[in-house]
Amino acid sequence: MRIVDLRSDTITRPTDAMRSAMSAAEVGDDVFREDPSVNRLEELAAEKTGKEAALFVASGTMANLVSQFAHCGRGDAVILGNEAHMFFSEQGGGSALGGIIHHTIPNRPDGSLALGDIEDAIRPDNVHYPRTRLIALENTHNRCNGSPLSAGYMQTVGQLARSRKVCVHVDGARIFNAAAALNTTVAALAADADSVSFCLSKGLAAPVGSMICGTRDFIAAARRIRKAVGGGMRQAGVIAAAGIVALNEMTDRLAEDHVTAHRLAEGLAHIDGIRIDPAAFKTNIVFFRVDRDGLTPAQLSARLKAHGVLVSAMEPRLLRAVTHYHISVDDVDYALGVFERVFKE
Ligand SMILES: *Cc1c(COP(=O)(O)O)cnc(C)c1O
Repeated sequence: MRIVDLRSDTITRPTDAMRSAMSAAEVGDDVFREDPSVNRLEELAAEKTGKEAALFVASGTMANLVSQFAHCGRGDAVILGNEAHMFFSEQGGGSALGGIIHHTIPNRPDGSLALGDIEDAIRPDNVHYPRTRLIALENTHNRCNGSPLSAGYMQTVGQLARSRKVCVHVDGARIFNAAAALNTTVAALAADADSVSFCLSKGLAAPVGSMICGTRDFIAAARRIRKAVGGGMRQAGVIAAAGIVALNEMTDRLAEDHVTAHRLAEGLAHIDGIRIDPAAFKTNIVFFRVDRDGLTPAQLSARLKAHGVLVSAMEPRLLRAVTHYHISVDDVDYALGVFERVFKE
């Protein structure tokens, strides 16, 4: 059966070029800083994000956790959106493991945080209050329609943060998608951030890993913390080699995923039984609702799956589809045909 897997861009498999690079990778012990492939990947990531240094970590969750620990001590507060992946989908690790307070404020539908809300959430110097150390933004914003945050917005938040002596971390799991959608560079988007993380293993199709980028001092602190949380890897060059290919070869094609996502959203809008606003989606993530009595997202996704089309059932009535390297225009048209059939069943 033909399978069109739209559950997530995390399902992307390494390209042939990645597999070749992995088998040929020069390696060493990365805890001794002796893995030339990891060192090259870290230099390349720093260059792409316009930062001094970078650190290779096992996952996006580890990148956010280590970044929070490097910015904040126990009892310090992070301001972040109530829909943020760091708050919503990482078991509250910053709080659970690091004693960091997650001070949430509402995400707007475009993934941004209102400046007034951020200002109000920064606690003044007072013996009663936790110290606000960090503002965390997410770009693109996964749960807010995969929306990209503009360089202008990032700059405004950065200025506010500096004026209040607070740092900014960007959870940029899909920041290369943001740069592609906004026709800008990741370095421009990250210019006002003290730290930025991104995933190699989503749209960029590498098998494993994420990067944290920031100043030399910040990355030195992050490197210590990575070791403490068990993320010091040894001959990690085998996977870093795929990351190098991801950064060199896979960023420029992300706009194709935005074209397929847009086509999917437009097509879904024509299906009786689905509610969607195609204009809301600027990158590779599409959310839609089931608008038929007695049909739950879980039931709809099960029916689609019976025809080989895989999507994620989210909350009551909500589903998500994500386009990626393995999804062609033809796959989208095939999936739309399956949606039509399923709603006529
Ligand atoms: C996927 C994702 C992460 C976490 O990445 P993992 O590698 O799955 O741990 C963090 N932030 C955002 C916005 C994500 O979409």
